[in-house]
Amino acid sequence: MNEMTVNAALPCLIAGKPVLPADGRTIDLLCPSDGKKIAEIAAGGAAEIDQAVRVARSAFEDGAWSTLTALERGRLLRRLGEAIAENAAMLAELEASDTGKPHRQAEADMVAAARYFEFYSGAADKLHGDTIPFLAGYQVQTVYEPYGVVGIIIPWNYPAQMVGRTCAAALAVGNTVVMKPAEEACLTPLKICELAHEVGFPDGAFNVVTGYGHEAGAALTGHPGVDFLSFTGSPQVGVMVQTAAARNHIDCTLELGGKSPQILFADADLDAAIPVVLNAIVQNGGQTCSAGSRALIEASIYDEVIDRLKAGFKDLVAAPWRENGTLGALISAKQKQRVEGYIAAGGGSDAPLIARGRVSPTAPETGNYVAPALFGPVAETHPLAHEEVFGPVLACLKFTDEADAIRIANGTDYGLVAAVWTRDGGRQMRVSKAMQCGQVFINCFGAGGGIELPFGGVRKSGHGREKGFAALHDFTQMKTIVQNHGT
Ligand code: NAP
Ligand code: MG
Repeated sequence: MNEMTVNAALPCLIAGKPVLPADGRTIDLLCPSDGKKIAEIAAGGAAEIDQAVRVARSAFEDGAWSTLTALERGRLLRRLGEAIAENAAMLAELEASDTGKPHRQAEADMVAAARYFEFYSGAADKLHGDTIPFLAGYQVQTVYEPYGVVGIIIPWNYPAQMVGRTCAAALAVGNTVVMKPAEEACLTPLKICELAHEVGFPDGAFNVVTGYGHEAGAALTGHPGVDFLSFTGSPQVGVMVQTAAARNHIDCTLELGGKSPQILFADADLDAAIPVVLNAIVQNGGQTCSAGSRALIEASIYDEVIDRLKAGFKDLVAAPWRENGTLGALISAKQKQRVEGYIAAGGGSDAPLIARGRVSPTAPETGNYVAPALFGPVAETHPLAHEEVFGPVLACLKFTDEADAIRIANGTDYGLVAAVWTRDGGRQMRVSKAMQCGQVFINCFGAGGGIELPFGGVRKSGHGREKGFAALHDFTQMKTIVQNHGT
């Protein structure tokens, strides 16, 4: 038996109390590294969502959360960040066994998860409005107010980081939260919610309901007691979430992935760029919304870049999480099948296969391993050039000049992140301004984890901004107060 096995079914956490669905249904959590069962979680549904929304509503309206000052909320968030840091070793093991990611990556994720709570703990009492010059005898001010109950749905790729990114910001500004993690990976969201109550979060502020998306997820998005929705996942489900939000006349942020380009100009510092380009597509097995899944390469350096990438791909190895390969197993058999489908669709003259990485000989057959794949030159019309694979698959495209690079970079339905590699300062800024996306990196990519940096997409990548101070604005609504004090 795997030592990460948890025996009893893990309950939902509602008002800090364990809640198992009345019908007793559970879902098996499988370790992607070997396909073995590591835990059972509660298959929550409409009843548990309703219960959680009610306690969150009461904590927001007249319960303990509503009476806390911003300073006090910030202090609680700080304590939770510290608890995550203190329990990082245990949490990283849970995360790695639940998601299959290399242990090293899970450890880095816990540092980031703790950092989100630290960042938003400090920000909680620093969000303030404005005064507006107006008519004689009037005083006008704007204040940022929490929405109320925020429904949060997160995916399986970075569960702990996603808790930090969404819940820390939502709670910092005074909302209460009902979160539904992905059914494939729930262990750290449940554990972090438990830690929140251990460090003194009042009942009802932070609730987690596990279950299937079409049951618990749909119940949360459709619940009339929810005041705002934050969703991260696929564009298809994003449409369903936004439709449900519209029916209840509420707002939502959607973070839906991308097809982010790395643009390599002929004067780029390739020694600096190549390792970053490689890492940006294999980190987390390519299951990252901001994965750098397209390399756009200026024609004059195309062959040299391909040679270097090819050499790099040969060293990429997918291995069980404990072995700390370049990447781990993909989240599920379904995701492996999806990625293999994309790899099989390549290989023709419009998307030649250039190189593959390896799967470690120690990887069990029952794990979801995929050897990374490098394709190029990929025709702009090929699915590998414009569809999100969400796996370790890099599509290389050739461009002729700056205008051509911009056209290709903006030529997908997505717009999340872009990187520009060039020593030319003017070009750095021209191309950055021309990118239709939410974040541009110049001579770097995903620098420093980016907790401080507003993040989000355009078009099919979604809308709204998370991370940084921008998230505080997205999780609040502005009220304008006009006072006639007379002259
Ligand atoms: P998904 O179905 O969109 O799942 C994301 C979250 O939404 C999960 O918590 C899921 O719950 C929930 N959900 C599913 N159906 C729902 C519904 N009808 N109402 C409310 N919530 C619902 O994504 P996936 O199936 O895990 O992955 C499919 C593809 O989405 C990937 O291959 C990738 O391209 C993309 N994706 C993007 C991101 C990102 O970070 N932007 C993350 C993950 C996936 P359950 O999982 O429990 O059903
Ligand atoms: Mg799903």
